[in-house]
Amino acid sequence: MRSSILTIVCLTCIGGTLTTARAQNAAVPDPVQTMVGRLDLEKYKATVKGLTQFGDRRQGTDRNRAAVDWIEAQLKSYGCPTDRIKYVYDPPPAAGRGRGRGNTGLAVGGGRPRGDRIPTGVNTDPMKQPDERLRALNMQPTTPGPREMVYCTKVGTTHPEEMYIVGGHMDGHGWGEAANDDGSGTALVMELARVFSAPDVQTERTIRFALWNNEETGTQGARAYIDQRQALQGRENPAGSGKYPEPKWLGMIQHDMMMFDHGMPLPDGTMRKEQRAEADVNIEFQSNSKMAAESQKLAWVLEAANEKYATDYPAAVGPHMTNTDSGPFQDLIPAISLRENERGVQIGNGWDPQWHQPTDVFATYNDKDFRLGLNAAQTTLGAVAGLTGATIKK
Ligand SMILES: [Zn+2]
Repeated sequence: MRSSILTIVCLTCIGGTLTTARAQNAAVPDPVQTMVGRLDLEKYKATVKGLTQFGDRRQGTDRNRAAVDWIEAQLKSYGCPTDRIKYVYDPPPAAGRGRGRGNTGLAVGGGRPRGDRIPTGVNTDPMKQPDERLRALNMQPTTPGPREMVYCTKVGTTHPEEMYIVGGHMDGHGWGEAANDDGSGTALVMELARVFSAPDVQTERTIRFALWNNEETGTQGARAYIDQRQALQGRENPAGSGKYPEPKWLGMIQHDMMMFDHGMPLPDGTMRKEQRAEADVNIEFQSNSKMAAESQKLAWVLEAANEKYATDYPAAVGPHMTNTDSGPFQDLIPAISLRENERGVQIGNGWDPQWHQPTDVFATYNDKDFRLGLNAAQTTLGAVAGLTGATIKK
């Protein structure tokens, strides 16, 4: 009570000064803050929900292809011009593949696991999905063959020949709705495409919003993108047109599983029911990569943007990025990933019990979970707006 009385007194005595300061702030509003303010929890949730209508969006199925079409329609409706990458996926024999700790005792990505662990894996049993409608939706099996993925582009005004790539993977598996893995990252990328594509937003440099397919089978969508487009970087085409179909890659920022940070498993193998109060956005680079120094630098740009623009949850930087679409880029350009937890030592230790399971459905999550995803969106939007020189036209 006392502090509020003091505040009132203080406000009265320096009211003139405050008014002046406010007038100055109004004269130079932070355009990035305005853009971050255009993100919204309900819009983010609605986009995640929209993605869940296609079940687990497993690659090589009609539900995956329908999801690509739906995503493209959304991006177009935001005013973000789209294009597609086409490639063929013929999976290798299943034997001998697996993810987990090697004989070093370290997690994938190189971190050292600690604390209580619960098993992880990919559900392949339809009968573990109790919702009959969803089970039927997910029933069509994957078949080898042609694949497509969609991206859209915000073209820079003064440096259209350079760009940042903002990515998430739109495929999933496990007989759920892939709401978190990776509906949450896909929705984040789509929401950023919406904000940056507003008619009054201008960026000096280009931004490409990429929704990778085939992440869950080994990042084949991202690899196809690199194979087909790496050599085209920075070329004006047609000559003299001012158009750059593939701007030079300045960095790749990936988003994969953005919502669930309930802490480590409890000793009895269960999880806390609510988002932990200390939940954070994990920004990872790979210390064992050619571009480690540049990637770490990019990671800290996002950390600083989180401090400035994220409303609820902080960010933490770590060196063990792994198993995501930024991996194929990590020896070529600065590459980082954002997640709800560290991929190796935390997700790998069972910190997300919905991971690749029938329980990864929209109804599993509450607003505290969705809000972590929104905070990751605020983080990346703030960072990319700064990196690309974003402004709002008067
Ligand atoms: Zn994922």
